[in-house]
Amino acid sequence: MRHARPALALLAALAVVAGPSVLGADDGPADDDELLVRSRKTGVMGTELIVTAIGPDPDALDAAIDAAIAEMRRVEDVMTDWRPSPLTRLNEAGGAGPQKVPAELAAVIGASLQLSSATGGAFDVTYAGAGRLWDFKADPPVIPSDEAIAAALGSIGWKRVTVDREASTVALEAEMRIGLGGIAKGYGVDRAMAVLMKHGVKHAMVNAGGDLKALGKKLGKPWEIAIKHPRDRDRVIALIPVSNVCVVTSGDYERFFEKDGVRYHHIIDPRTGRPATGCMSATVVGPEAAVADALATAMCVLGPERGLEVIETFARTEALLVGLDGEVHVSSGLESARPKKKD
Ligand code: ADP
Ligand code: MG
Repeated sequence: MRHARPALALLAALAVVAGPSVLGADDGPADDDELLVRSRKTGVMGTELIVTAIGPDPDALDAAIDAAIAEMRRVEDVMTDWRPSPLTRLNEAGGAGPQKVPAELAAVIGASLQLSSATGGAFDVTYAGAGRLWDFKADPPVIPSDEAIAAALGSIGWKRVTVDREASTVALEAEMRIGLGGIAKGYGVDRAMAVLMKHGVKHAMVNAGGDLKALGKKLGKPWEIAIKHPRDRDRVIALIPVSNVCVVTSGDYERFFEKDGVRYHHIIDPRTGRPATGCMSATVVGPEAAVADALATAMCVLGPERGLEVIETFARTEALLVGLDGEVHVSSGLESARPKKKD
């Protein structure tokens, strides 16, 4: 049975794109031949951001795209932990009681806790207690000691984070740390699309390094998203037509190192403090990019079997998961996108 989870309700105020179905239906020709496509590429949140907007007035489209990019940067400034931000200030105040934070930071952390509950703790922004031990850029790679990981596990636990949405405060225990790398990009995509819509844009795509939200159509046709194989990025394993929906992919191929034949990557299993062993890649399709982003990260921890059970509890949400054995698993609503077996 499908029912809306509280996490969806919580971020609902932020959700701007909603359609009757996950997969876009092609319901007819373009409503206007005078439509122009405007697109801009830039870097944000450590990834490439492409904002595309379609409409009749190029100046209006450009102004909307500027504002959408500015919004994404604004979100990054609040949620980054690569440089001083409201998030890093919160992390430095662990053990010092409730801290006043920007309302949207409290909202995103609050939503994260609900997503932790909905994923059995697989998505947990306090993963950062152990996450900070792992440096995926160090050369040669260093694997944290068992002792360091065991000690860090004590600072992981979403149930020990207290969010007061009304007062806009968050309280962390001493030594606890929050990292929003698994949800901020999706949240930024939602916000950027909200800004495009506020500017009157009817057809658009916001794509932050493959985490994307599609609005309306691409000149009369649904936007088409290619899902690539996690080990062979030139190989398309599924083509999904989408309209008014988000598609977010996480995987063990984004940031990783290999040592003695083992792949160590940036999605941490909060139970072990070590890289997750659930999936090679996880693509989640759903109405909110923030939620899809968090779920995609959670799928990589949970693996295909348990992961798909969780997905089925979310309304209008689907997933395509590539297991560690390379096998492709899809949720019920994505059967049609499943790659055809080669003979
Ligand atoms: P990407 O940033 O490549 O799109 P994800 O959305 O999967 O990838 O996010 C991975 C990031 O999420 C990590 O780099 C880290 O910042 C954070 N993270 C890692 N493990 C977890 C976890 N178990 N729960 C929540 N966030 C996590
Ligand atoms: Mg994610």
